[in-house]
Amino acid sequence: METTKICMYCAKRLSGRADKKFCNSYCRSTHHNDLLGNKTNYMRQINYLLQKNRRILATVFATVENKKAVPVNELYLKGFSVNHFTHQLKTSKENHYIYCYDYGYKMVGKSHVLIVQDCN
Ligand SMILES: [Zn+2]
Repeated sequence: METTKICMYCAKRLSGRADKKFCNSYCRSTHHNDLLGNKTNYMRQINYLLQKNRRILATVFATVENKKAVPVNELYLKGFSVNHFTHQLKTSKENHYIYCYDYGYKMVGKSHVLIVQDCN
């Protein structure tokens, strides 16, 4: 029987069993290692951004006096990424905190943020 299936790794035409996906174990393991590598890189990148965000929050938090709100631009200028956070805490409409690990912030108006440190 003619088969038109190709190897998922090297794209060579496969012959033999219909459920075959790779020409040999080399192609199989290399393919899986590539997938794993990409996932690891992806997670590493996200972790890096989360840690960078936390560092930015911690740095700005340390310079703020009396829990004052700071311009959100101050975070952006340091490379803060709003799309990356670890969790959120919403106790009311006004109290919506977005956290990067133990540091969080909430919007105050449209242009300022109040940074908080979770002591837990
Ligand atoms: Zn192959």
